Amino acid sequence: MGAYFTICSFVYILLFIFFFFSKGSVVNTETKIYKFLIITTAIGLVFDILGYFLYTNGFPIDSFLYFLVVKVELIYFVAWIFAFLFYIYVISYNKKSGEEKIRYFRKIFHYLLAIFFFITLIAFVLPIDFITTDNVVFPTGPAVTIVYLIAGICILLSIFFALKNRKNIMTFKYSPLFAMIISIVLIVVIQRMFPDLFLINFFLSIIIVILYFTIENPDLKMIEELNIARVQAEKANQAKTDFLSNMSHEIRTPLNAITGFSEALKEEPDLPERAKEDVNDILMASESLLEIVNGVLDISKIEANKLEIINNNYNPYKMFNDLATLTKVRIGEKPIELIVQIDETIPKVLYGDHTRVKQVILNILTNAAKYTKEGHIVFKVNSLIKGDICRLIVSVEDTGIGIKRDNIDKLFNKFERLDEDRNTTIEGTGLGLAITKKLVQLMHGELVVQSIYGKGSKFTVSIDQKIAPSDVKLDETLEVNREELTKDKDVIGKSVLVVDDNKLNIKVATRLLEEYGITVDSCMSGLECLEKVKSIKYDLIFMDDMMPKMSGTETFHKLKENPNFNTPVVVLTANAIAGMEEKYLNEGFDSYLAKPIERKALDNVINKYLNNE
Ligand code: ADP
Repeated sequence: MGAYFTICSFVYILLFIFFFFSKGSVVNTETKIYKFLIITTAIGLVFDILGYFLYTNGFPIDSFLYFLVVKVELIYFVAWIFAFLFYIYVISYNKKSGEEKIRYFRKIFHYLLAIFFFITLIAFVLPIDFITTDNVVFPTGPAVTIVYLIAGICILLSIFFALKNRKNIMTFKYSPLFAMIISIVLIVVIQRMFPDLFLINFFLSIIIVILYFTIENPDLKMIEELNIARVQAEKANQAKTDFLSNMSHEIRTPLNAITGFSEALKEEPDLPERAKEDVNDILMASESLLEIVNGVLDISKIEANKLEIINNNYNPYKMFNDLATLTKVRIGEKPIELIVQIDETIPKVLYGDHTRVKQVILNILTNAAKYTKEGHIVFKVNSLIKGDICRLIVSVEDTGIGIKRDNIDKLFNKFERLDEDRNTTIEGTGLGLAITKKLVQLMHGELVVQSIYGKGSKFTVSIDQKIAPSDVKLDETLEVNREELTKDKDVIGKSVLVVDDNKLNIKVATRLLEEYGITVDSCMSGLECLEKVKSIKYDLIFMDDMMPKMSGTETFHKLKENPNFNTPVVVLTANAIAGMEEKYLNEGFDSYLAKPIERKALDNVINKYLNNE
């Protein structure tokens, strides 16, 4: 009876080996042990069958061959149990990471190997007896007893490891292990009680197959490994994004001082002409630096899938107008005509992420201005309306240096600048188009480039935006009024409080504000600010956000707890990544200013809150 089980097991283990090894699998310690278990099981079955064959063919049980077969079977059983113990151990402790884990497991493996050889020796040396019944013969005696004893210890150790690390086992969904350990205990007990049943090898093969369906399935393993790799990659990406946003914050603070003081210096009445030029160069260089900081931050956020599309109602005509104005500034003195053609069927109000749409178009307009020496730039916007969707088709065509056909594919690579030798005089980082392309993808749009080298290029972007009812109220804060404040506006005598934990930032803000004739007071913490407003009535407060102990946002909420407090509070922060303006306005701040302070934005704030007219 037992022999039939064994033969069946051997056949399906052979089939199983064929299927398992013809499939690719993950290479890790537990899978290696599993492979060893499969092979050992097959070898064990061969010896089982051999023993049976010898006996039924009348081989004397006291012959050397018979003795050898039985001893090998015993050793095989010890090897299997040791491998299983090692398997459980590895699975239980697989929380440890990488190199350290492998080194550790290797050490354990060497110990186990040494113990295994020692037991093999004992099992070989100790005597063995045979009990013969009607149709079977099975071994007993000291060699068999010691093997069962070792198996018992190994099983107990397996139970100990598995229970000790049960949490880890559960997290990795390895709970079928417990069932397997229990079945091994049962098998060993049953086999010991009814040695003529020859059940061990049959059950070990079943365990191998169950292990396959529960833990060792190569497909499941692969998915699991991929998941671990994905989580690690996401963590690394997050760390990179955090690092970059901290860097951006840190770089903005000194940059604020550089641009702020340069702006102030530029206004000095008796500044020599050469110094004025130098100051302008400093300002331009700071602007490029800020562009790089923002670009790197945008790229890292996009790659970490952290860049959100924030939709709002906006006026597209105003946006195109702003873009044309900015492009004119960028063209400067160059003999380039900017031709603007806006399709008038575009609805008055659209719903979409106007900051990102603007960033995309501004990038390609700026490039056109940068890479064109003379001629014209045509900025054309057409629309295609379908239901409540308006497809904006924006094209920017220039008569600039053009792009070689082979280079078109490289255009969107990060930090890739083409034709470097021809572009040495043109400022750039090679990030603009990489960001543009990703933003367009994020908004489910399309970007097409056509170019003739030496003649000019045409960039076409199409993005779908929802059509909003034309009477919908536009978010005023998004409609930044770029009107410049003339210095003779009546703000003299107004008082402002600047709250910032950084002395240099206070100095910059004070310097810029005093130019308007505003009285500036300052303090370096939220608590001091709360004290000051108790006794002094200011016309406006500029509040930094990231301050130790009490943040600007917390201070602001504390100020608002007083129902009589009605001084406008503007957040003035280096926390200037996309989405921050909306976040601060949602907190209740009256306006938002990013560091480094942009002169026009400051003009706007002063105009809005301090102008006596
Ligand atoms: P940057 O302008 O900062 O170098 P971009 O990513 O915006 O980076 O552009 C990448 C490269 O593509 C530029 O260095 C330039 O060689 C090329 N390029 C982009 N726009 C144009 C254009 N309108 N005409 C010619 N070349 C262009």
